[in-house]
Amino acid sequence: MESSAEFKKLLSACQEAKDRAYCPYSNFRVGCALITERGEMFTGCNVENASYGLTICAERTVITKAVSEGHRKFKAIAVGTDIPDSFAGPCGACRQFILEFGECEIFFVKPDLTYMKFPFEQLLPMGFGPKTLDTNQNS
Ligand SMILES: [Zn+2]
Repeated sequence: MESSAEFKKLLSACQEAKDRAYCPYSNFRVGCALITERGEMFTGCNVENASYGLTICAERTVITKAVSEGHRKFKAIAVGTDIPDSFAGPCGACRQFILEFGECEIFFVKPDLTYMKFPFEQLLPMGFGPKTLDTNQNS
């Protein structure tokens, strides 16, 4: 994955998606990109709201876009911020959202496109997911 052209595109796409972030309250831009099992790419950004609680993170935006277009299996997801000197991981809600659709590769990306791969197993230890309910995502 990491040596492919597709992966380089994923890194760039998550950083570029920040340009569409709607974050007038936090001014904290987040961009996200994912590649589906079939190789299609989706991007998303954070979308804030004056009520604050209705804010949607970039990770949930991109997953919702992909699922609503018929995709439920993801190869990789990348999260980009403007923080130049450290990596930022998803919030708890987004970790739950990522867990829902099964194992994928997770990357955190700095503005200069340096990245770290984050182990899926550490996303949400003992997380509550579809396997807990012993169901599939076919419904
Ligand atoms: Zn989040």
